[in-house]
Formats: sequence, C-alpha cells, structure tokens
Amino acid sequence: MKNRIFSPRVLVILIFLFIHTNTQAGAAPTIYTDKNYDAIGEFIFYLTENEQTLNLKQAQAAYRSGHFTQWKNPVLGFGIGTSPRWLRFTVTNNGSDSEQRRLIIENSWLDQLDIFIIKDGRTVFHETAGDKLQFTARTVNHRFFAFDHRYPPGTSEVYLRTATPDPMILPVFFGDLETSSGRDIFNGYSYGTLYGTIVALLLYNLLLFLSIKQTRYFYYVIYLLMFLLMSFSYTGHGYSLLWSNSVFAQKWINPFSISLFATSGILFAFSFLKIRQLFPGLYKKTLILCALFWFMQLAFILLDKQAASVIVAIGFVSFFSIFTFYAAIISLKRGHHDAIYYLIATIATLFGTAITALTVWGIMPYSILTYRAAEIAISVDALILSLALAEQIRRAQKDKAQAMQLAYSDMLTGLNNRRAFIDISTPIWHNAIRHNQPLCIILLDLDKFKVINDTFGHAAGDEVLKEIALIINNIIRDGDISARWGGEEFAILLPQTSSEQATQIAERIRTGITEKQIVSGTSTISITASLGVAMINKNTPAIDDLFKAADKCLYLAKQNGRNNVCSAPL
Ligand code: GH3
Ligand code: MG
Ligand code: MG
Repeated sequence: MKNRIFSPRVLVILIFLFIHTNTQAGAAPTIYTDKNYDAIGEFIFYLTENEQTLNLKQAQAAYRSGHFTQWKNPVLGFGIGTSPRWLRFTVTNNGSDSEQRRLIIENSWLDQLDIFIIKDGRTVFHETAGDKLQFTARTVNHRFFAFDHRYPPGTSEVYLRTATPDPMILPVFFGDLETSSGRDIFNGYSYGTLYGTIVALLLYNLLLFLSIKQTRYFYYVIYLLMFLLMSFSYTGHGYSLLWSNSVFAQKWINPFSISLFATSGILFAFSFLKIRQLFPGLYKKTLILCALFWFMQLAFILLDKQAASVIVAIGFVSFFSIFTFYAAIISLKRGHHDAIYYLIATIATLFGTAITALTVWGIMPYSILTYRAAEIAISVDALILSLALAEQIRRAQKDKAQAMQLAYSDMLTGLNNRRAFIDISTPIWHNAIRHNQPLCIILLDLDKFKVINDTFGHAAGDEVLKEIALIINNIIRDGDISARWGGEEFAILLPQTSSEQATQIAERIRTGITEKQIVSGTSTISITASLGVAMINKNTPAIDDLFKAADKCLYLAKQNGRNNVCSAPL
C-alpha cells in the first residue's frame, strides 16, 4: 500500500492499462472498492453547465443522453473563471458487505461543491461543501474536500457539481482510509520540509535586514512571507489551521497574498538586478503598472468581485515571472553579473511551474513530484537567491576591508599612514594611562633627504623611503606600531616600553639606517636619520602632547648635528 504512494507512475500505467481494457469492452470504466487509486481523472465523465443551472435529475438525464465527455488524464483541469462542471463516475463493490471509502478532491479553494451518491436510482448520500462554508462545518476535518461513505455491494453512481471562480483543478482521489491517511502523512512531511526551508530562509534574511538595513532584504522577506501565506492559502493549511472560522479571510487571502507576492517579488528583483540605476525609465513604468494593479485590486475587494481579483492576481503573477526573467537578461547584458543568479533561480521556478502546468493539463504523467514541481522549484529559487544575497554581503565586506586598507595605509611603503597611526594609537594611549603603563613614541626624520632627491632623482628617493620602512619594521617588535608620518618622517609607537628601552630601539634603527647601503640603479646611496623619543608622563595629558614632545626632541637631534637620537627628559 505504501509503495503505491511512492510510485505513482506505476499506478498511472496500471490505471491506463485498466482503462484500456475497459474501454475496449465498451463500458464506462468503474472504480473498485477493493482497489486504491491515485488521481482518478480518467474514470470521470464531465459536463460543462452553460447558462442554465442543472439539478441532479437534469444532470442524470444529460448523462443518459450521452452529453458527458470522458476526461483523458488523471487530473481534471478546466481553467480559471470557468463555468460550473458536473462530474460523474461509478464505484463498484464486488464484495458482499458494504465498504467504507474516502473520496478526496485535492483542492482547497472550490467555492461550491455538491456531491450525490446514487444507488439503484435513489440518492443515498448528499453533501454540500465548498469554502463558502466555514471550515468548522465540515463533516471530515481535512484541508481538502473529503467525503466518507460506505459503498454497498454493486455499483453506485457518484455525481459531483462544482463551481468556483478560482482555477478549477480537480485531482480526485479514491481509496480506503489507510491509503488516504498515508498520503496525508507523506504530504504533511513534505510540506513540513518545504515550510521549514522557507521559514529558515525568511528568518535568515530578516536578520540580515535588521543588521544591514538594506531594503532589498526587506522585500525578500516580504516575498518569502507572501509565498508562505500563498501556500498556506492554496494548500488549505490556512483554512484548516489558522482562519477556520473566517469565510472572508478564506476568500481574500488567496488573491491578496498572490498580489503581494508578485509585487514584493518585482521590487526585490528590481533592487537585486539594479533596474533603477540601469533602466530608470523601465523602473518608473513598472512602478506605475504595480500601482494601477493595486488600485484595481482594491476596487475589486471593495466591489466584492472575487473572481476578477483572482484572475487579475494570477495574471499579474504570471506577468511577474516572465517580466523579471526579461529584466534579469537585460541587466546581465548591461554587465551586472549578479543577474545570473536571478536568471538561474527564475529558470528553476519557470521550469518547475511549467512541469506542474503540464501535469495539470495532462501532458506530463501525474505524480506527486510533477504535480508539486512548482513548490519544489520555488524553494530551490529561494535557496539560490539567499546564497546570492549572502555572497553579495561577503563581497561588500571584502570591498569594505579593501577600502579601509587603502584609506589606512601608505601607498609607497605599505606602512600605516598618519590617520591609521592616530586611530590605532589612541586606544593604546588610553589603556596605558588607565593602567599606568609606560608608552613611548619615536619620531624619525631622514637627514638632508632633499639632497638625495636632488642628486639621485625622485625615484631613487622613493626607493630609499621603502628601504627605511623595511629597516624600521625589521627592528621593532610585535605589538609596536610603525607608520609613515608624512614626507620623509616616520613614527613608531611602543606600548609597555620604558624610555630607556625605546631609546635603545631608536639607536638600533639609527645604526641600521647608517649601515645600510641602498642600491638604486647604478648608484649606491647612504643616508642617516635623526630620531626623537618621548614617553608618557604627567606633562603629556593628551596624546598630542606626546607627539609634540617627540617632535621637540627630533628638532634637538637635528640641532645636535643630525644622525643622533634625542630622548625627552621625564
Ligand atoms: P633635514 O635634515 O633638515 O630634515 O633636511 P631634509 O632635506 O630632509 O628636509 P626637508 O623637509 O627640507 O626636505 C624633505 C624632502 O623630502 C623634500 C621632499 O621633496 C622630500 N619628499 C617628501 N616626500 C617624498 C616622497 O614621497 N618621495 C620622495 N622621493 N621625496 C619626498
Ligand atoms: Mg622633514
Ligand atoms: Mg628630513
């Protein structure tokens, strides 16, 4: 029995063979109570009710006069806003006892549904259902329309009349309660997985929106939320679990969620595809179109025109998928590479939707997978787009880090620049003051650097500056911070370092520079430097005072004939 649920294709083939033998015999195919069936569309004859509403007697007469047509596929589908239909099939019980069987129409939104079961010319069962009635009034507590009946031995006739402005898709199932609840459990798990995936993506994108405050994520969250609401609405989960008592909600949530799904989808697509920047004209026109669409929808709600509202909503959502597909292509053509993610995601959805549509139209064989391909595709779509959004954040962070790097470092030497040096030094300075720890600064200025430039050229001067940076970085310890202070001046911050230690390091740098023979082209350049050292003390209440104290010493070192280190007195 379980196998049946998991291999519907096999069942479709069996049904096909079964019908084949039946039609050859020339009799109308019948459903047997001792078998379980997947969608039974091929057993069903239907009649379109034109201007005049028929009652059961008239429908029976029409059947007898051969006005009913046999449906050719497992799932019946008659389109949107269509006329009411009568369906008719027979159920045969070859046993000697009556058998309890469940008939389910796996559709949650039919407005009106009348079912009659006739045995030996007498109506033995009649029920009126449809989502114009409160969910709580149903005899079988099921998100779809389910009817339980004990079929007596022999053949019973089943007549069904349905009318709805919504898409009239009728997957009719027939079988024992065990098979039926097996299907329900399987569907329950699969919807649990689908909703779980979407809720996880929704929360993830909501957190992203709350932390980076980009409207793109907001539109995406609304889009996913509306997808959930839309699914809740058309699967009947909403009516059976959330708004069981509200016929009004059941009536309007569907067109409303579809409309908002399409609108937030367009806004998200435009933001993701940069349509506003790349095609401002198209952007404006589409916004006007969306506004017109909502104006129409509000009018329909106020005028209580549900059918029109559903048709317009479905038209809009179809327009949305094709239009955003087009937008992704033109955005990609304009060189916006991220559009490729959108394109792949949309192709997945269009592909899935096409499979579902082809299944509903009977062109593809019916199975759980083909029937629900659109739902699977939309979760793949959501997954791809969430990955793309995450990738965009990663890239933005990288760009930001690179920009910071550029803004904070000196292009020539690769050392920190003056701004970075001050930014990094300030908290270290505060920390040293708070914990009463020593902190020193060394300022270094190359001696007669102008002469180097004049003698060897500016490019050689640049080489010298780079070499000096290397010498400094080789001598200082981890945790010391070096920077190009400007021109041919350098600064070094030495945390937890006494004045004596700092002077020693300064001395080492000075000798390092003096001893270095810098080769630039054919010339070998020697240079010296003067250094000023200062340590924080009571005379340096602000970090600037420390810089000033070191600068004063540097001036003294220059005065003392250059190529020497001068330390500020404590
Ligand atoms: P003193 O010993 O008094 O410091 O003499 P000095 O020549 O080093 O002093 P001065 O401040 O007069 O000259 C600094 C020179 O550094 C002038 C300027 O052209 C040069 N300079 C500043 N930045 C750069 C640079 O990025 N590259 C090169 N090649 N030279 C630079
Ligand atoms: Mg100078
Ligand atoms: Mg100088």
